[in-house]
Amino acid sequence: MENIKEVRVRYAPSPTGMQHIGGVRTALFNYLFARSKGGKFILRLEDTDRTRYDEKYVKNLYDTLAWLGIDWDEGGDKGGEYGPYVQSERFELYKKYANELIEKGEAYYCFCDAERLERIRKIQTENKMAPGYDRNCRHLTEEEVKEKLASGVPHVIRLKVPMEGETKFHDHILGDIVWKNEDISPDPILLKSDGFPTYHLANIVDDHLMQISHVMRAQEWIPSTPLHVQMYKAFGWEHPEFCHLPMVNGSDGKKLSKRHGSTSLNEFRARGYLPQAIINYVALLGCSYEEGKEFYTLKELAEKFSLEHLNKAPAVFDYKKLEFYNANYIRQLSTEDLYKWTLPFITGTGDATLEINPENPQPKPNVGPQFSGVALGEDGEPYCVDKSMNMTSADVKETLMGLMPLIQERLKFLTEAAEMVHFMFTEPAVPPADQIIPKRIDAAKTKEVLEAAKEFVAAVFETDHEGAENFAKAKAEELGIKLGDFMMPIRMAVTGSRVSPPLIGSIHVLGKERSLKRIERTIATL
Ligand code: GLU
Repeated sequence: MENIKEVRVRYAPSPTGMQHIGGVRTALFNYLFARSKGGKFILRLEDTDRTRYDEKYVKNLYDTLAWLGIDWDEGGDKGGEYGPYVQSERFELYKKYANELIEKGEAYYCFCDAERLERIRKIQTENKMAPGYDRNCRHLTEEEVKEKLASGVPHVIRLKVPMEGETKFHDHILGDIVWKNEDISPDPILLKSDGFPTYHLANIVDDHLMQISHVMRAQEWIPSTPLHVQMYKAFGWEHPEFCHLPMVNGSDGKKLSKRHGSTSLNEFRARGYLPQAIINYVALLGCSYEEGKEFYTLKELAEKFSLEHLNKAPAVFDYKKLEFYNANYIRQLSTEDLYKWTLPFITGTGDATLEINPENPQPKPNVGPQFSGVALGEDGEPYCVDKSMNMTSADVKETLMGLMPLIQERLKFLTEAAEMVHFMFTEPAVPPADQIIPKRIDAAKTKEVLEAAKEFVAAVFETDHEGAENFAKAKAEELGIKLGDFMMPIRMAVTGSRVSPPLIGSIHVLGKERSLKRIERTIATL
């Protein structure tokens, strides 16, 4: 039957940590689902855990979604018809609903203190019993409850989970799920003694009041779902449809973690990924679109997304594949945009300052003025650190813009731009001889190469790219060496580094005179 309910989905993170790939996948899929169905995407802050709460995580959430280009219709800082969308602003509501369950006989007051609970826990561990509350207060008489309440004994409110029978629900990805009620946590707390709700209560009340049609979240929430279904039943509410997304694992089949590489979005940013690449790749984690098609924009994804295309099997996070997407999207940027995206890494500002996890096995990228020779002034304009270069900010910008098309083909990460532009902003020290002399030829031959390099530089300026290339090929043949062995010493002389843009273009940007000077200098040291 055609589903006629309006699609209303939510991303409901707890601001207790930085946004990571798993959270982004959940946010993205909910967003895409809403957009594909002309529905609403809601952003709800589940900030009931006040001990782990930190304002910086809220900021990071907004910042990450904005960077990715994922926007929402209701919630967060936007408001909406069903607000507030921040759970800490809704505490009175949860109290009201917890009391409603008490009145309905679906929940009860529990007066057990921490000491007693600890005692039970100990006995359970000693006897290898399943942990959980022993339901002691479920059996108190009305009189006993009244008396304890009147004398102000601290209490919580617990749900009366049925002790027999089964809970059944359907999941869009996993199919029908049947769960024995005895396996549901025995009578979990809904309202804590300080009047704060637990995740379960706040989550269910809000999904109901905000008219959420589909709960789409990671598969690790499956064990909570039977309890949630029981809570909806206790309230007498219809539950939303469920859709538990497949796990995201590392290459070893274990849940993706810091051991595998970057996981937090800040770190992907610090490592020079583009949002387009992240969006495209993450959209394919557990979902397939068209056979054989690899590239999708956010807009295309929003048109094509469908619950039917979600996979059951865990997705494997492949950093190499993401790298492929990144290089690809970098190649698609306009020169202006490439400049805009690489400048923070060249100057060591903005995204380049985001924290990188020290446990990450991938090396830290070489970014900032010490690698590029370019820093950012207080006026927001780049300047050359080496004053003897006599470059104005306008010169620096022009040079960088000239380099952009050259480095574009070589970049897998935006971070790599820093080292690649360095040769233009300093007179590099002449590299040691063993770095200039190729393995297959000797010093004398290398000197011959560098002598010929002067003609090569002339060819670069007198002919076109092809002409310069042909000149190099002919010269290499004449000298009886491979083309690579002809180019390498020249590259080292001109740029002082192996990480540089293509040689002919580099010579062009550097200029004839400066190129020749660097070649002469190098010959003198051999
Ligand atoms: N606040 C929960 C989280 O941190 C939400 C889980 C859910 O979507 O129900 O992921």
